[in-house]
Amino acid sequence: MKDTTSTLTDKFRETPKIFDEIEDYAIILLDVNGNIINWNRGAERIKGYSAYEILGKNFRQFYTQKDLDFGKPDMLIEKARNEGKAIDEGWRIKKDGSAFWGSVTITARHNDLGEVIGFIKVTRDLTERKRAEEALLKHTREIEIKNKELEQYTYIASHDLQEPIRTVINFVELLNSEYEEKLDENAKLYMSFISEASHRMSNLVKGLLDFTRIGNTKQLVTVNCNKLVESLLQDLEVKISESKAEIIVGDLPEIKAYEPELISLFLNLITNAIKFRKNDVTPKIKITSKLEKDGWHFSVKDNGIGIKERYLSKIFVMFQRLHSRSEFDGTGIGLAYCKKIVDLHNGRIWVESEFGNGSNFFFSLGAK
Ligand code: ADP
Repeated sequence: MKDTTSTLTDKFRETPKIFDEIEDYAIILLDVNGNIINWNRGAERIKGYSAYEILGKNFRQFYTQKDLDFGKPDMLIEKARNEGKAIDEGWRIKKDGSAFWGSVTITARHNDLGEVIGFIKVTRDLTERKRAEEALLKHTREIEIKNKELEQYTYIASHDLQEPIRTVINFVELLNSEYEEKLDENAKLYMSFISEASHRMSNLVKGLLDFTRIGNTKQLVTVNCNKLVESLLQDLEVKISESKAEIIVGDLPEIKAYEPELISLFLNLITNAIKFRKNDVTPKIKITSKLEKDGWHFSVKDNGIGIKERYLSKIFVMFQRLHSRSEFDGTGIGLAYCKKIVDLHNGRIWVESEFGNGSNFFFSLGAK
């Protein structure tokens, strides 16, 4: 009869030889107690000990004090014993005391009777990847903090500016009404300039304040886009009838979105489509949607003045306007506002346009 014990021992001896040459992975054989019984070249390279120095020692010595206090090595061995395998990532200690980020798999070895006779521990040194991830995370956090600070600053500045502007507007109105007879034509003209400028400033400041508030609600709800646009068009009734705009609304979906922000997004695009119309042409606006791979794509298409190709990406930047105020009134905040809203929804906004022949604004809201 064949001696099972000796066959097993042979197998046990053969296995390490296969792994000996591997340098990218530390492959270590442990006995049932976690003592090291074999050590390949990769282990030597990654952990710094030669086989001669480490054989017979316990694998716990690679763990940080924090992990040891937590009982991590024993928990991993226990898991591998019970479930066949334990996987972990974490800082481990080399011979010279420095740390490396190891990705570790501990697999239980069994004899023919199914009893655990030891473990194979395979470790990959992922320190470079880990450091790159940490640097990226640190950088992202710094940017987030800077953005928050900037947003708070803009909020406070625009909030505090509102009061003095309101005071200017009120007193100009008072001067105009109570001193009307005493003001000569020049004074009246100057007063109208002050009034116009302070109203403009008030609009700008309000725009900035609204911009900083995007995303404050932070509550995703199911929105019926047809109902939303229908009620928006009712609010815009005066503008629509003054401009004689014809607006066609297609079948729009129900989506998960931040509702107040979505309303502002449609409002900005529809009012722009009405505002940037051609003088002698009835404005025709079409609002449609299409389901694409990355979620719903919406389109607000007009037959207005259009945009020159070189300006197509610029217009989404804050305060970028292509016209003087005497041609078209505005603050240049609207499309920056729209961009921030689609960003909030993990979406995209873009425009296709032919100068003189209308524009088609598209936005997607990300797959949800
Ligand atoms: P505002 O409307 O206050 O000027 P926006 O940020 O909404 O600011 O738009 C920026 C610029 O983009 C506008 O000044 C205009 O030149 C251009 N634009 C926006 N929408 C349209 C449109 N539908 N047709 C043509 N030009 C547009």
